[in-house]
Amino acid sequence: MVVLDGKEVSNKVRASLIPRIEKFHEKVGRPPHLTVVIVGDDKASHVYVRNKKIACEKLGMTSSIHALPDTATQNELNTLLRELNNDAKVDGILVQFPLPKHLSSDEVLSVVSPEKDADGLTFKSLGYFFAGKPIVRPCTPEGVMTILKHYNIEVEGKRVVVVGRSNIVGKPMAHMLTEANATVTICHSKTKNLSQYTKEADLVVVAAGKAGLLGKEDFKKDAVVIDVGMHGSGQGGKLCGDVRFEELNGWVAAATPVPGGVGPMTITTLLQNTCLLAEKRARLF
Ligand code: NAD
Repeated sequence: MVVLDGKEVSNKVRASLIPRIEKFHEKVGRPPHLTVVIVGDDKASHVYVRNKKIACEKLGMTSSIHALPDTATQNELNTLLRELNNDAKVDGILVQFPLPKHLSSDEVLSVVSPEKDADGLTFKSLGYFFAGKPIVRPCTPEGVMTILKHYNIEVEGKRVVVVGRSNIVGKPMAHMLTEANATVTICHSKTKNLSQYTKEADLVVVAAGKAGLLGKEDFKKDAVVIDVGMHGSGQGGKLCGDVRFEELNGWVAAATPVPGGVGPMTITTLLQNTCLLAEKRARLF
């Protein structure tokens, strides 16, 4: 079984961004800039936000963090987002979810401009994307496509099952694979006899958010398995996915591990999207 190494792919993509960042800097007089907005004091979210800032700076991009208190109102948040939409020095905006309960993520997804939406998940961005005219593509499924390309895994004409139908992963994943000419079936929480579908597939992308949901018996021999799931409380408190990875060796052709599979690609695609948005606004190509 080939272990699809998301860290390796991620390093390669990040290295390819450096000359683009340098070129942008040279032409525009500053590097691409990602702004992250966080509300409240959820510790894990603050760690994610800091990691994104460090990742930007390692590549020579810049990043700023707008931390609003738990007491921030929707109006204050919307006002900040509109200011950032209009700030010429900001290329990408990312709002860290989840928000405190009194705030609406739908409003955030309506207010952030698609020209600056580094995550590719606002309603307008998704509209352009599903219409086949993406400005940028949603990070996690785009990261999966990059892994497949890196390992020369052809999807055209293949039978693919995507498990999950969220706006963040399942739906855009199924759309990207359809655009790549696969024949795609979407399974979800109301699918009866999930295994019957996954066992027929050449490629299965699992994004159900259920730790250890699928194992060897759910895949056909020599299938490719991509595990998007991420859970902090697997056996012994270790990070694990939706797939029982340890069962797969000797049965499937290739699979992503958790950690070290899809996860590293999500943040890398965020950096890539920020570069792309910066380049598009500066009309560098
Ligand atoms: P979600 O809860 O919004 O959606 C889960 C989807 O799975 C739903 O559409 C649901 O219908 C389906 N589902 C749930 N139980 C099922 C079952 N038993 N059988 C079939 N389908 C089932 O979650 P999400 O935001 O799409 O995330 C999915 C998983 O991916 C989570 O574990 C999340 O942590 C992870 N994730 C990882 C990354 C990453 O960077 N690696 C990024 C985003 C999400």
